[in-house]
Amino acid sequence: MPKKTVANLTEADLAGKRVLVRVDFNVPMDKATGAISDDTRIRAALPTIEDLIKKGAKVILCSHMGRPDGQVKENLRLTPVAKRLSELLGQEVVMCPDCIGEGVTAAISQMSNGQVALLENLRFHGEEEANDPDFAKKLAANADLYVNDAFGTAHRAHASTEGVTHYLSPSVAGYLIEKELNYLQAAIETPQRPLAAIIGGSKVSSKIGVIETLLEKCDKLLIGGGMIFTFYKARGLSVGKSLVEEDKLELAKSLEAKAKEKGVEFLLPTDVVLADQFDKDANSQIVKVENIPDGWMGLDIGPESVKVFQEALSSCKSVLWNGPMGVFEFDKFAAGTDAIAHTLADLTATGTTTIIGGGDSVAAVEKVGVAEKMSHISTGGGASLELLEGKVLPGIAALDEA
Ligand code: AMP
Repeated sequence: MPKKTVANLTEADLAGKRVLVRVDFNVPMDKATGAISDDTRIRAALPTIEDLIKKGAKVILCSHMGRPDGQVKENLRLTPVAKRLSELLGQEVVMCPDCIGEGVTAAISQMSNGQVALLENLRFHGEEEANDPDFAKKLAANADLYVNDAFGTAHRAHASTEGVTHYLSPSVAGYLIEKELNYLQAAIETPQRPLAAIIGGSKVSSKIGVIETLLEKCDKLLIGGGMIFTFYKARGLSVGKSLVEEDKLELAKSLEAKAKEKGVEFLLPTDVVLADQFDKDANSQIVKVENIPDGWMGLDIGPESVKVFQEALSSCKSVLWNGPMGVFEFDKFAAGTDAIAHTLADLTATGTTTIIGGGDSVAAVEKVGVAEKMSHISTGGGASLELLEGKVLPGIAALDEA
């Protein structure tokens, strides 16, 4: 781990200290009831929070939720998060009226060692995303040192992820960020081989960076999702009304050529599940990729492709997965994604390291109920993708070196 972490801070460093902790409590809320529908992100922050409590710190948590765009939005208050967190910790969590200002200073001045407070939604202030130095200074004014454990926003230079590090020392990583870096970096830098990457999702354009990086690192590259049709069209096949990025045909060709040049096994599905319209109840048929008729669109990889992918994965010691194989939100077109999720769960049980790189693939493995069986599930969609692309994440770069 190249960065200093909370593990490096002792009780002597922390007892009685006000520690500002950036967490990712951007949890999904049920619109009808206003209740938290998934508390995974809250639970993911517990190791850091509990360690700080144990070491006698005054723990001041801050997070964003949703997109209030600099306005106070009643439905985006963090009050339900404070309640859920206090249940998980088994102790009261003080909910602050704002994230900066006198009310916050007053609440924090009342805290005793080992107590936890939660600041109100950072994005109620437009200055947070603008990384405004004054705002960062005000956030930092109520603390002595800083811990960043919000992996999901580490790819953004915001006041609470980057700005505050200019005013608080030390600035260190929490356990969640440490775990994410350990898994994701090891996966591409020092993997057990063979390493396979499975890339899916809707568009080639959003995955170019990661595909290019992975072509340098992995032994096998398996492609699924909507982007396969751009590759087929580039090969001269008819794709009906499937999703195609016309301006990425040359790119698709060059990615395939690069895979060949690098000796990376490049696998596209051999059959697909077609729909006559983009609808959960659409009529469907399974065809070989050479036989896609006009008027139909591919919404999933077919059963033969699943077998080919399973065979390719069976000898791998590490597998990285980002992006669903099809429109898994529609049951009729979820079989390919579900099968890959089960395959990875089975491989994990036989010793393969499996890493789910955030976003929709996480939703997919959760839907199938195999999330617990994977080696690592990333809590960051954009952040994990950028890390895998080899980009510097500003929220991590700003932390103290180990
Ligand atoms: P991404 O955010 O790029 O990982 O894309 C995820 C989205 O891709 C999901 O919402 C899927 O429904 C969608 N997707 C997967 N396969 C297809 C496909 N064949 N056609 C259209 N959309 C797809």
